[in-house]
Amino acid sequence: ADRNPGQPEFLQAVSEVIDSLWPFIAEHPKYAEHGLLDRLIEPERVVMFRVSWVNDRGEVEVNRGYRIQHSMAIGPYKGGLRFHPSVNLSILKFLAFEQTFKNALTTLPMGGGKGGADFDPKGRSPGEVMRFCQAFATELFRHVGADTDVPAGDIGVGGREVGFIAGMVKKLTNRADCVFTGKGLSFGGSLIRPEATGYGTVYFAEEMLRQKGMSFEGLRVSVSGSGNVAQYAVEKAMALGARVVTVSDSSGTVVDEAGFTPAKLAELMEVKNHLYGRVSDYAQRAGVAFHADLRPWNVPVDVALPCATQNELGQDDARTLVKNGVKCVAEGANMPSTLEAVKVFEEAGVLFAPGKASNAGGVATSGLEMSQNAMRLSWPREEVDARLHSIMRSIHAMCVRHGTRADGSVSYVDGANVAGFVKVADAMLAQGVV
Ligand code: NDP
Repeated sequence: ADRNPGQPEFLQAVSEVIDSLWPFIAEHPKYAEHGLLDRLIEPERVVMFRVSWVNDRGEVEVNRGYRIQHSMAIGPYKGGLRFHPSVNLSILKFLAFEQTFKNALTTLPMGGGKGGADFDPKGRSPGEVMRFCQAFATELFRHVGADTDVPAGDIGVGGREVGFIAGMVKKLTNRADCVFTGKGLSFGGSLIRPEATGYGTVYFAEEMLRQKGMSFEGLRVSVSGSGNVAQYAVEKAMALGARVVTVSDSSGTVVDEAGFTPAKLAELMEVKNHLYGRVSDYAQRAGVAFHADLRPWNVPVDVALPCATQNELGQDDARTLVKNGVKCVAEGANMPSTLEAVKVFEEAGVLFAPGKASNAGGVATSGLEMSQNAMRLSWPREEVDARLHSIMRSIHAMCVRHGTRADGSVSYVDGANVAGFVKVADAMLAQGVV
């Protein structure tokens, strides 16, 4: 904590991992040697830079850009870019640290990184968004490359922004190799990449439920958020027969007791992805209830899928979910549950999957996009989806292998942390103190 003052999210993420690792390291003391843990916690490189650009009124605006290159031990740095006013060093360091473990779990050769800027895309014109992205790219391009660091999207950075940044990087470098994933299909993107995080979260939850002899069929599901991850989590849960009763954004929650339908989801996507509107606009168009003062966690459900942002589900929310009979919680977002909330779920015997396991489908499919780009090929939708599904099953199996407790129950938190750690730590030990 002394070395990282003012970085609560980073310390939270590190302490969750270290708590899981202690018993494992006590049994395998080679992992306590060569300063391994100290090296693993410290990012290899942190780049912070000025982004200055001109808005529609002709005024100069200055934002702060970042790229955290956490670990290259098992492959090029890989992780998304986030544009949100809350972005700061602590949040991006936590995300890059988590990403390193998550990427190790995907079975693909990718290191960990994360980046972004404290830019708020809400209410900006398309021209302003493009000029900001281009200004951001004029510094980012020095630090990325197909075998160095391959960014992607995250909160506030979707297909449109990836296109603008990738286009400027291409112009500056005169190279067309894969420096971004989440690209549009017309310039090297992969089918299923937009769907992958949401689908993958539901595939993972399906495996968790299977452990208890259950399926999504007929279950009530709450989803938070209404962006990329949330939309495709809704779609897949619905396809598996669940009744999805909530979505949300930072202004409130939609509660739809009748449940989502494909037509309602198409409406939500139109409002969020094309009109850049709010869930309250969707509620009005779809004729469903919107509550400005409510969070999804007050609504009784069997399965909760937090898909918005970090620390959006606290101890009291967890208690409410447990009281209302929740059986399974799978994180689509990164660290949406606080440490206290996770404890409540684990003590109550609720199946709980941390984001680094359950939302790894997005980056896994980014890895598949990199493979397709390297081969100069595009796989059909079915092939990418089948690979995604099989990767999610194998991450689930790794969590069970490393996280099964003496009483036979599974700590997915311990399983994911230990499995990810072993892969990164073995690679670091083999490559010496660098
Ligand atoms: P989007 O920008 O598409 O959507 C984010 C959603 O979360 C919006 O509905 C947004 O609402 C809501 N949200 C953001 N901040 C807050 C907040 N402070 N309080 C309440 N709601 C908030 O992002 P993604 O769907 O891509 O990302 C969502 C989460 O999933 C993030 O944690 C991200 O790191 C994680 N993730 C994403 C992956 C991907 O492939 N995209 C991969 C793995 C993890 P509003 O519009 O009001 O801000």
